[in-house]
This record gives sequence, structure tokens and C-alpha cells, in this order.
Amino acid sequence: MTEPHAGPGQVVVKVAGSGLCHTDFTVIGRDLAYWKSNPPPFTLGHEVAGWVEEVGSGVTNFRIGDAVAIAPSWASCGRCHMCRSGDENHCLYQKGIRAAGVGFDGGHAPYILVPDARFLVPIGDLDPVQAAPLTDAGITTYTAIKSALPRIWPGSTAVVIGAGGLGLYAIQFLRLLTGARIVAVDSSDARLKLARELGADDVFAGGPDAAKQIRELTGGIGAAFVLDCVGVDATLATGVTALSWGGRLTMVGAGGGSAPFDFFQMPPGAELTTSLNGGNIALQEVIGLAALGQLKILVDRYPLSAAQQAYEDFEHGRLVGRAVLMPGQD
Ligand SMILES: [Zn+2]
Ligand SMILES: [Zn+2]
Repeated sequence: MTEPHAGPGQVVVKVAGSGLCHTDFTVIGRDLAYWKSNPPPFTLGHEVAGWVEEVGSGVTNFRIGDAVAIAPSWASCGRCHMCRSGDENHCLYQKGIRAAGVGFDGGHAPYILVPDARFLVPIGDLDPVQAAPLTDAGITTYTAIKSALPRIWPGSTAVVIGAGGLGLYAIQFLRLLTGARIVAVDSSDARLKLARELGADDVFAGGPDAAKQIRELTGGIGAAFVLDCVGVDATLATGVTALSWGGRLTMVGAGGGSAPFDFFQMPPGAELTTSLNGGNIALQEVIGLAALGQLKILVDRYPLSAAQQAYEDFEHGRLVGRAVLMPGQD
């Protein structure tokens, strides 16, 4: 294959790790209409870290060999209010959802061309294979929780629905950033066990009883914050039913579900919101936490040549952590 070369302001990164994400399945074709602004072909992989291989003219703040993680909001303009606030993920001028590995060539390859050096975050001594999933799974939950912090007071209850690739980070961020009681909801006993190990105080099996159990646990008040990492009708129903008055439910799982926005079915004063990905500064902060040893990052490592196997293991729920492809290991 031909290697990419860095034009002015651009950087080529030698890929150490490129994570698999549920989004890849929708990009591959489960729901192509959703991604029609991103016609194939392009290389998948939007959770990428590695080493700077080549810098284009004008790039002075990175050197060849620097270990870096790649922030994914490549379609952000860099100059609107959202971008200047550090919320490149919610840039006002990006057309559709486009990112590394979603419309642009991503990281499931030996090298990746990063269109602007502003998307690189130095990772120092952190293992780039471990850093890879932080660039999406990490910052998505971090950003959703950070913006909800004024709603999550010490002693309140925060619920994470789905204790998988996203939720296991969410539990850790809630532990690190809030004084809330943390509840995890999932259909898998193995994942609930992991959730407890990573900081969940209480765990419940997913299903129709989960909301009632959360309500009982909170003396009838409900949860101040619910993070739905699945996003199907059933999990949203659980989330709305478990939510306290004035609580916030944030959906980060792109499961395609919906919930009625109804005056009498919603808890009064509650907020329902979505959150897509995270900005460059969020990645810098999450990398900072990881560098301090504060984050447990579970990865299942595969050589790039085993990509098919990795996707099959992912699809059939055989992963413990996040699957990460390692192009250098073939
Ligand atoms: Zn993703
Ligand atoms: Zn912008």
C-alpha cells in the first residue's frame, strides 16, 4: 500500500493501536442512510494512538517519534464558539458526523494522515495501545459526565446503563469526579462484576425491574443522573423511570431508541440530552488521568490481520475490554 504523506499543517502518525467501536458496525452498513454524508471507501478506525512519523511544513510543536493520541473531531472548523470553547465535537459548522474512520481514512492501517496538528495530544510514557480507546470511548463518557457535574451532588445517585466499552469508563469517571453513589445496570453478570471492581456501589440486572430497584435504593427519590450507554427503547425507558425530579439523562449509546418527551411522563425539571464524542481538551484531560494511573483501561489486543476476528468477537460479546488492532504486530 502507499503510505500517506503530510501536507502543510498535517501529520502522519504510525499507528500503534486502533480501537473498535460499535459505531463501526453502523458505518459498515447496518444503517448506511445515517452516514450518507460519508460515502465509502475509507479506512475504519476512529480510536487511534501511535507515534509521529512525518510532519508537514508549518508544524513546529510536534517532532518525529512523539507518542500521541488523536482527537477525532476532524470536521470541526476550529474557530466557531463551540470549537473555541473546547467542544470541537459539537462544532457548529461540521456537516454531518465526520471523523477519523468515519468519512476520513482512519486508523485500521499502518499509518494515518491527521489533517491538522491540533488534533494531536501528547501521551508521554502512556502505552499508545491503551491510549487508543480513550480517544472516543473515554472522552465520550467523560464529556457527558463533566457537563452534568452541577447536577450530580455528593450523596446523590448516578446510574450507568450498559457496563461495556463505554460504561466501564463512565463508572470510573463518576468515581473520580463526583461523590455520588454509582449504580450500574447491565444484562451480563460478568460485566456487572467488572463494574463493581471499577467503582460501582450497586449493580442491577437490566430489565423491567431495574428502575423500580433504583427508586427503592434511593428512598423513592430516583437518580440525579442517568447515563445511557446503550440507547435503545428499553434502556431509555429504564432511565426516564429511574430519574429524579430535576435529574439529567444523557444518552451516549447510539442504539437508535427513543423515549417520549412528554410533560406528564418526564420527571418535572428533568433534562434529556445526547452527547457526541468529546473535544480536544477532553482528550487531554482523560490522557492526564490515565498518565496519573487513575484509570483502568481494559483492552483486548489483536494484530491488524485479525481484524475480522476482532469484529466477530465484538459482535458476539466475547470481549472483556475494548478491542484494539495493532498494525505493527503482524
Ligand atoms: Zn466510536
Ligand atoms: Zn467549529
